[in-house]
Amino acid sequence: MPDQPRTPGQRAASRRPRPPGYDEITVAAPPAPALCSNAEHRRLYVLAEAVITFGELGVAWQKDAIWMHNWGKSFSLCRECFATVTGFARARRPGLKIIDTRAPSTASSNPTATNREPTGH
Ligand SMILES: [Zn+2]
Repeated sequence: MPDQPRTPGQRAASRRPRPPGYDEITVAAPPAPALCSNAEHRRLYVLAEAVITFGELGVAWQKDAIWMHNWGKSFSLCRECFATVTGFARARRPGLKIIDTRAPSTASSNPTATNREPTGH
């Protein structure tokens, strides 16, 4: 095994889904309890509910590109900040895809399950 200099891309995070691409944001559950990235919320110990990773939200240096310095980075966000961030991104990037990789946890409020008509004779 040759002694390699430090490589920029480590292969440690193998269980992660593919990184977000152009006009994509991926959403994952926090792997451990984490505080919201918002400085104010961090002071108030608001827990994050999601970890979002930004893809390339636009073409670099174009005026419609948003958050260029955050592309490829992940942030833990509380519910409120998540809604703010994704709402803003959606408004600015109409083609945005938000890829939520969290397991669906709203099985109890499934509207199709309560709407069944009885099929008797
Ligand atoms: Zn927050």
